[in-house]
Amino acid sequence: MSISIKNLTHIYHRGTPLEVAALSDVSLEIPGGSWTSIVGHTGSGKSTLAQHMNALLLPDMGEVVVDDLSVSSKKDLREIRRKVGLVFQYPEQQLFAETVKDELSFGPKNWGMTDNLDDLSEKVLDQVGLDRTYLDRSPFKLSGGEKRRVAIASVLAVSPSYLVLDEPTAGLDASGRGYLLKLLNKINNSGTAVVMVTHDLEIALDMSDRIIALQLGKVAHSGSPRDTVLYMSSNPVPGLLLPSIADLWVKLSKYGMEIPFSCDPSTMAKNIDEKRRGTKK
Ligand code: ADP
Repeated sequence: MSISIKNLTHIYHRGTPLEVAALSDVSLEIPGGSWTSIVGHTGSGKSTLAQHMNALLLPDMGEVVVDDLSVSSKKDLREIRRKVGLVFQYPEQQLFAETVKDELSFGPKNWGMTDNLDDLSEKVLDQVGLDRTYLDRSPFKLSGGEKRRVAIASVLAVSPSYLVLDEPTAGLDASGRGYLLKLLNKINNSGTAVVMVTHDLEIALDMSDRIIALQLGKVAHSGSPRDTVLYMSSNPVPGLLLPSIADLWVKLSKYGMEIPFSCDPSTMAKNIDEKRRGTKK
């Protein structure tokens, strides 16, 4: 199971003076159940790529296949759009219903799911850390962080296999960001693949199984967080700054202290400590 993208090219305003090749010959694989982060400078093509994953945009050239469904088949498009949930930047701006319950049941009704909608709404609210007392509240009267969680829950309500989020932490303070990432981690641990578009390399290094770096509409690098740090320490990608803890890890390995990579300072300290004890023995 995977989202498989082969030789994808997308051109906006093709054939006009405003023509922009947003993606050129992009090939990549998003394994089911994984956490993949797409990083890159503003304008590198991240949002355009995300919108191809659930067939909101269709390729000018190339192919997007989700599990065994292809966006080139009209018959498969509807199922792809259910399987791949897309959460836009600032999704709370798209809330529209009078109550949270109506907001959460809109998608399932659209897909013909009419049974146990209350139970379903309660379940997805729970997934984003809100209890059933929110069901009858107006989404417009919630706090910013709560609105965003309701917007994510409304995408989860149709049980997507892949959850694609465009800059999900944009505009949140440090505690809101931490809380949201924990929720996404829980959703990922329950089997839903997470694809996170972000310009924040530190979050990507901390959370992901794999990182794909885009540069000017092409894949500049794809690999594990460890490989990404090694790559970027010798091939800087414009707009992506290695966090200082990753710099430290690179320096330690240059001086011969090979330890597992982690962006978390306490794990890093523990790894250094274990390594030093190991060498003393
Ligand atoms: P990112 O998400 O990395 O900032 P985008 O995918 O939004 O990158 O944009 C990639 C390129 O495509 C940029 O040059 C941008 O200006 C252009 N672009 C994005 N959306 C549109 C659009 N709707 N119409 C025309 N050009 C666009």
